[in-house]
Amino acid sequence: MSSVLDRYPEYTANIGIEVHVQLSTKTKIFCTCDNAVSKEPNKNICPICAGYPGVLPALNQQVIHYAIMMGLATNCQIATKTWFDRKHYFYPDLPKGYQVTQNENPICSEGFVTIRLEDGSEKTIRLTRIHMEEDAGKNIHSTVSNESFVDLNRAGTPLLETVTYPDMTNAYEARAYLKALHTIVRYINVGTANMEEGAFRADTNISVRKKDSKELGTRTEMKNINSFKFIGDAIDYEIERQIELIESGGKVRQETRLWDSKNHKTVVMRSKEEAADYRYFEEPDLPLIEISPELIERAQDDLPELPAATFERLMKENGLSDYEAGIIVDDLELSKYYEQAAAVNKSKQVVNWILRDVLGYLKEHKLKLAALKVTPEKLAKIVELLESDTINNKAAKEVFETVAQTGDEPEAVVESKGLKAIGSESELEAIVVEIIKANPKVVEDYKSGKDRLFGFFVGQSMKKTQGKGNPKILTKLLKKHLG
Ligand code: ZN
Ligand code: MN
Repeated sequence: MSSVLDRYPEYTANIGIEVHVQLSTKTKIFCTCDNAVSKEPNKNICPICAGYPGVLPALNQQVIHYAIMMGLATNCQIATKTWFDRKHYFYPDLPKGYQVTQNENPICSEGFVTIRLEDGSEKTIRLTRIHMEEDAGKNIHSTVSNESFVDLNRAGTPLLETVTYPDMTNAYEARAYLKALHTIVRYINVGTANMEEGAFRADTNISVRKKDSKELGTRTEMKNINSFKFIGDAIDYEIERQIELIESGGKVRQETRLWDSKNHKTVVMRSKEEAADYRYFEEPDLPLIEISPELIERAQDDLPELPAATFERLMKENGLSDYEAGIIVDDLELSKYYEQAAAVNKSKQVVNWILRDVLGYLKEHKLKLAALKVTPEKLAKIVELLESDTINNKAAKEVFETVAQTGDEPEAVVESKGLKAIGSESELEAIVVEIIKANPKVVEDYKSGKDRLFGFFVGQSMKKTQGKGNPKILTKLLKKHLG
């Protein structure tokens, strides 16, 4: 894949990413309100998350548990002592006037996520930290009247913010990192990571510099882009914009920019010439948090096999290529589907059928895997019927299509549609002999050197078996009898 940087060989880019993951806890981070999306505004709120003065927050212990799981899954050090801080700023969706977050001493630090590059090699993206914090509410600006509204349903939703070093150097790496982190969240299941719903939000810091310069350039930040594709496009655009600006004698300004996906460009949202002073101080209403070895052990126990380990295992034990394993592992639903099918049928054909027929069918019919009537067990059965020569390849495709439409058992479909292959060699041999006997002239021509007439015999045999003959066996028998 090409990168915009190919056009500017003397430049390199530095990209750092902050991801906010909403945690799927039952209740909010500091109160007992339902942590659920609601269509009705200000439904799941109470004096604590609505920011009334004088109320006392109490920390949801599940947030600590999920934060440790996330830290362990990304190779972080887990703090033994940690605490919350107040970050002060004014915005209507933050009625307290401060966000409860972690500043100096986050719960997880110095981790890493490994990504795969296009050439198959691996690269380590280092994490500076993962910290816990509360989400703010939402401002809703009316499109029909000149009014704005505040919905606090989201206020107090627990978040984990994962921050990288500026280790990524192009859009491909940034996207690979985001996908890897997204997959980890899906596997460990601390949140839905649903990007459209804002449960996995990425802010991207981008700067460019001449390769011979050690100092990082001035960076711009891009907020909340909710698709992997847009993030890649936005990074490419921003890298080129910054280089062009420098090349024409200008200066990159530190600012927050938005991706305008319709016009395919970034636009200024706000300028950040000076670092904001948030007047952080320790949250006095919450006690110091001590992380015991038992807590870490419990988080460790709750971790499933992580995507990187699944990837290795599918290659080593199941014989998948890195390409195949990559596609399967990147999608939690697909990897569950594959594992269930492979548990019934160890054949290498299973992954081929998934990548070609299952994914093809889903795409063609705009279906989600969960809605596919070809269950993993049924797919395993179809492959088994094919490999035992009970049906041939053409029939297997027909069985797949039918099962996908009806959900019937593959064997029942084979039976009812009469798709069983004429498989026994003696049966096929009789047919071959008959065809040869019935076409003496063609046999003569073939024997005199017209090799391509072999296709005629294959065609006749398939016709005679109504497409149910095993082409491999038929070819073998024809060669034997035609001499
Ligand atoms: Zn509340
Ligand atoms: Mn944050």
